[in-house]
Amino acid sequence: FRMGDFYETFDEDAKVVAQEVDIALTSRPWGKGERIPLAGVPYHALESYLAKLIAKGYRVAICEQTADPKSVKGIVPRDVVQVVSPGTVVAPHYLDSKRNNYLAAYYTPAAGPLATLAGIAYIDITTSEFHTTQLPADRALAELARLAPAELLTPDDLENTEGLPGVVTGVEPRWFGQERARQHVLDHFRVASLEAFGCDHLPLATGAVAAILNYLAESQPAALALVTRLATYSTDEWMQLDLQTRRNLELFQRNRQGSAEGSLLSVLDLTKTAMGGRLLRRWLERPLIALAPLRERQERVAWLHEHALPRTAVIQTLAKTPDVERLTNRVRSSQATPREVVSLGTGLQQVGMLADALSMHGAGDAEGLAAGLSPCPEVCALIAAALNDDAPSTMEEGAVIRPGFSPDLDGLRDAERDAQQAIMKLEQQERERTGIRSLKVGFNKVFGYYIEVSNTHRRLIPFDYHRKQTLVGAERFFTPELKEWETTVLTAQDRMSELERDLFRQVCAQVAAFGDRVLQTAAAVAELDCAAALAEVAVQQRYVRPDLITEDTIRIESGRHPVVEQYLDSGAFVPNDALLDNSTNQIALITGPNMSGKSTYLRQVALIVLLAQIGSYVPANAASIGLVDRIFSRVGAQDDLATGQSTFMVEMVETANILHHATPRSLVILDEIGRGTSTYDGLAIAQSVVEHLHNHAPTQAKTLFATHYHELTGLSAYLPRVHNYTFAVAEETDDIVFLRRILPGSAGRSYGVHVARLAGLPEAVIRRAEDALQELEQRAKPRDPAAKRRGTQPGVQLALINGDQHLKETLLALDLNGMTPLGALNKLYQLQTEAGKSGADQPDPEGPGADA
Ligand code: ADP
Repeated sequence: FRMGDFYETFDEDAKVVAQEVDIALTSRPWGKGERIPLAGVPYHALESYLAKLIAKGYRVAICEQTADPKSVKGIVPRDVVQVVSPGTVVAPHYLDSKRNNYLAAYYTPAAGPLATLAGIAYIDITTSEFHTTQLPADRALAELARLAPAELLTPDDLENTEGLPGVVTGVEPRWFGQERARQHVLDHFRVASLEAFGCDHLPLATGAVAAILNYLAESQPAALALVTRLATYSTDEWMQLDLQTRRNLELFQRNRQGSAEGSLLSVLDLTKTAMGGRLLRRWLERPLIALAPLRERQERVAWLHEHALPRTAVIQTLAKTPDVERLTNRVRSSQATPREVVSLGTGLQQVGMLADALSMHGAGDAEGLAAGLSPCPEVCALIAAALNDDAPSTMEEGAVIRPGFSPDLDGLRDAERDAQQAIMKLEQQERERTGIRSLKVGFNKVFGYYIEVSNTHRRLIPFDYHRKQTLVGAERFFTPELKEWETTVLTAQDRMSELERDLFRQVCAQVAAFGDRVLQTAAAVAELDCAAALAEVAVQQRYVRPDLITEDTIRIESGRHPVVEQYLDSGAFVPNDALLDNSTNQIALITGPNMSGKSTYLRQVALIVLLAQIGSYVPANAASIGLVDRIFSRVGAQDDLATGQSTFMVEMVETANILHHATPRSLVILDEIGRGTSTYDGLAIAQSVVEHLHNHAPTQAKTLFATHYHELTGLSAYLPRVHNYTFAVAEETDDIVFLRRILPGSAGRSYGVHVARLAGLPEAVIRRAEDALQELEQRAKPRDPAAKRRGTQPGVQLALINGDQHLKETLLALDLNGMTPLGALNKLYQLQTEAGKSGADQPDPEGPGADA
């Protein structure tokens, strides 16, 4: 509740607030001898306290005085003017300047013809970005995960909210209801059809939009004025990246704990403005899959890459450009301080300089670099004319409006100054009249203007002096003349501050009227910032421009991992080539000891493709990238403790997802599939996954498959598009040296024991392991029939199985394309049992592959 200069909370709220934001809990009288707990914050500090409460998951209703307390007798009327929640907060303290803050709505009908679909809408009320989409229900969660909204609206009768991102807020289900929802959206935008927004035929998308409008109308009516745009998108426009893949590729976070350092974004983000930072993140979240828009982006990056002077000029100017986008919306929602409006003006001047820098250096229209960079001269000129350059951050401090802008204000200022001067003259005049040389005229906030005379001159005080205040060694007086001047000064000041407030409001309203145009400019600045950042990264890190093609080939010469190379000494990273296509080089099966560089290589290929598809240059000597529709990755064995799933379950869920959704245009990165279970299970699953990717036409994705199962290298014998690669290792007496270079062929052995030594296992353990290994290898020699049946020799198991006519027939009858990994596993188990192996489901823990 706004009470004078404070926002107060009462009773239970007061206790909560005092505790959570660490302010004093006081109390005030309440009826007969009762007291009520009270906790308040100064009005000008509201935003920072709000930020703290929101961050702790609270929603805060703000109750303002709705009339001027001076003009009201008795209790000032108050009303709840907004309810601030994570998705609707605008406090700069709370917001991450380089990240959008989305309020999203999500809806999928429980039954009926649309039950397989979902509607999603999201808005950032600090930037006015408002989008909606309708998509298959099974893709909705991935899309929501990509958006990572701060707050998510769902119908409050939705039973299962598990896995939904952000703070979930249940709202009235009828807000999503179709006809009603549509009408609501039509009314808000004052249009007769939703065609212009592209969601006319998408009832669920429209429902989600309506829910957001309803929610804003209830919680932040003022913010509705910011909702001036809406666009429908389709998730098909972008490369799909599921949560696993984004995590595994460490696009935004280094690890699950969430540190941004060491992520791909941290390497790329040389953007200088908050707008550019937000856009770059969006680019990375949704790489493009169409050639034309990608080439446009690439052109812009290329021009800046080639032209060092304008690039430097642009980057330097961007560094001085404030967040025009969010500032505009603060002005539009009447929240901007005078200083922020001045900052918006400065920002627009910088935009003018950006355009100049580009045109001066001959950036042609072809690159589209300067497109949309309008400094909005009307707004610039208005702000420059109206506001002082050093306008303060609150109205109370005054001196907001520039002299010369308002004759009325100038008149009042003159009157005030004259009165002040008259008061100064009065001091001189009274000294002469009374003969008291130490007499002085002063001012304080409580008593106003006074004449001060020390007690030693008491006798000389004239009769027309009226006592005002007594101090220890002096008395303070006023005279009718001083009183008159005082009234003049104070009224002038009152009127000045009122007039300044009015003028400031008018200026803001005029700026707000240009809001949409300024936002367009902001968007153009963001584009330029991203292009300049990518160009600068390319220069600093020696990236090359990839050739973007529609053919199905991915060819990388001397590619590097953009993040790992940063952490090594210059030149220490060993570059590697890659070649994948759909006709001959579909699957690269990569073996090699632990620590040899397999994972790094897999990710580096994926990241290079991803970089190419956001329009960036890539860390390589040359690259030709056939655009992919999706990148899938399943890397490393990780427990998902948060959701209580075991390593192996997670691994299989992710693998299932890949096998269900990969297409021949996809890039699949599989690292150590099957590692999370026993050796035979794991090997069987790994093998059948490779076979499926190879044989099942709809999923014939280009694949990099890293494994420590040497047995799998036998697959290339009968799967023509599988090729074996290995990471080279040099052996030196007792030690090994990783060369980090990928070569055709397969690893001779696994070197697990060597790695264990590198890792510092006690020498005794290492020696025992070496003995045990030798023993095992002896046992596994081909002449040992038991080992033969276990198939420990690469390529041997196939020949073996061929020996048995019945098994052969069963095998040939299998529909591999139609089998699930689990089905394959079951079948294998059955075949093994038939072949006479007892306890086939209890694999030997010391069997092949256990070294890993
Ligand atoms: P693997 O997946 O085979 O166990 P990693 O890919 O995790 O191996 O690589 C192990 C370490 O080797 C990495 O952390 C990295 O420091 C280093 N490394 C990997 N690839 C290279 C390379 N191409 N050049 C230099 N160092 C590399």
